[in-house]
Amino acid sequence: MTPRDLGTARGVVVKVGSSLIQAGDTVIAAIARDIMTLREAGTRVTLVSSGAVALGRDRLGLATGTLSLEQKQAAAATGQPRLLDLWERAFAVHGVATAQALLTLDVTESRRSWLNARATLSTLLDLGALPVVNENDTIATDEIRYGDNDRLAARVAQLTGADLLVLLSDVDALYNAEPRSDASARALRDIPAINEDIRAMAGDANSARGVGTGGMRTKILAAELAGASGCATAIGLGTADKPILSFSRPDHGSWFHPARSSASARERWISGVLSPNGALHIDAGAVRALLDGKSLLPVGVTAVEGQFDRGETVRILGPDAQLVARGVTAYGAEEARKLAGCQSDETEDRLGYRRAAALVHTDDIVRVSSPEAGQ
Ligand code: GLU
Repeated sequence: MTPRDLGTARGVVVKVGSSLIQAGDTVIAAIARDIMTLREAGTRVTLVSSGAVALGRDRLGLATGTLSLEQKQAAAATGQPRLLDLWERAFAVHGVATAQALLTLDVTESRRSWLNARATLSTLLDLGALPVVNENDTIATDEIRYGDNDRLAARVAQLTGADLLVLLSDVDALYNAEPRSDASARALRDIPAINEDIRAMAGDANSARGVGTGGMRTKILAAELAGASGCATAIGLGTADKPILSFSRPDHGSWFHPARSSASARERWISGVLSPNGALHIDAGAVRALLDGKSLLPVGVTAVEGQFDRGETVRILGPDAQLVARGVTAYGAEEARKLAGCQSDETEDRLGYRRAAALVHTDDIVRVSSPEAGQ
């Protein structure tokens, strides 16, 4: 899409932070109006809404203090139907049905459930409904949690093939210094690429800003994740008069350009898997072959790290352990260990059977463009 030209976006994911849900009906109504304008222009919009825990803790009288994991999960269970009701009422006045989709990390990390979730969201959009996504906080435990809705929203952007991710919260922009204490601090409006300087700003001057789980760090991570799939990210104040449409003004919020222009649906999934289970270390010759567009053959593999099954995404690392690519393996970790370093015609001798000649077929490989991308 053209930067800051919302009319050119085909798909948009709007993420609404908890502080906005607590800010009241006027804020929600303004967000709903902007979403309606996008929809009327033909844009497919998916909402990712936080606020289940915040609404639930109020309802359960747990309003002050830190919550235990169990209390948070109970609060999420109590707050989620109220959260949906809030959006249902906001969109009922526009004649639009809302639909709830609760996701867990394993849904987006396994290819099969990813395809299912994608089909459901796409059908809802085809039917004119507005999907409202949240993490399934009530059952997700720490190991299987996204933990913050910024990265969840980036995964939903990949899932729906969106070209714009809008992160609305109580944070108005990314600043180069802490604006409350430094008079020279200025907001960065246009961020062509996320480099070390930008990451440092997120961890430093901006880290304490905002009341949500994420803060600026997870917003930058979300922008990186989305950007790797060709999706732009806009960060801005959800309490603004026109919280989404205002991004068409160059002086509103921060706009992150995607790292690449587009990606196929399969590439989007491979490059977005949040925590690949293992890694294949490969030699310099295999790196060259890979960057040349070839498949990864067992002969180029020097070591196999971690546990993974056939069909899972692994990192592919060069001789200095630099990330070269990500790919879906044709063999599980134990098989890959037996095959490492062997010629393709030895496969059957080593395993007792032969499946594919390549450990990772070229169609299942996403090469990384910058060394730190997709780590
Ligand atoms: N899923 C959480 C909720 O709905 C919010 C997570 C976040 O703040 O990013 O309450």
